[in-house]
Amino acid sequence: MNKNKFWQILSLSEMTKTQWESLCDSCGRCCLHKIEDEETNEIYFTNVACHYLDEETCQCAHYDTRQSKVPDCLTIYPDWGKKFNWLPITCAYRLISKGRPLFDWHHLISGDVNSVHLAGISVRGRTLRDDRMGQEEVCKHIISWIE
Ligand code: SF4
Ligand code: SF4
Repeated sequence: MNKNKFWQILSLSEMTKTQWESLCDSCGRCCLHKIEDEETNEIYFTNVACHYLDEETCQCAHYDTRQSKVPDCLTIYPDWGKKFNWLPITCAYRLISKGRPLFDWHHLISGDVNSVHLAGISVRGRTLRDDRMGQEEVCKHIISWIE
């Protein structure tokens, strides 16, 4: 019997919608504002989160309608290529796109959806909200996020 799990044998483009959605660990980091250096293309994360991010669960409060509410909200595609760099290096989509394994704290490995919080990977309790500051202010909150 093949004991490999679906994420070990399927590419992102081969996954069902349910499999795809289950990869998200709800770290919430993709909902942080990011700044790209136009010269180096380096991405800098801030600790300023979209105001639709639930600060406790680290999930989107309006997931199904998110892009009508936030037009530049990211939608991840299997063929994203270099755009995967907009996601944290811990993100399952980025990891699998590069042929890397999931971390032990990922709920598909640990069996516990809270392990992303217990491992200190999620943004729970560590964000500011973008509806409480201007765009210029966001740039002052670049952080070196835990990798
Ligand atoms: S960074 Fe990746 S794993 Fe984390 S919430 Fe966003 S899509 Fe999910
Ligand atoms: S609208 Fe987009 S960026 Fe905002 S919390 Fe929802 S998924 Fe994250």
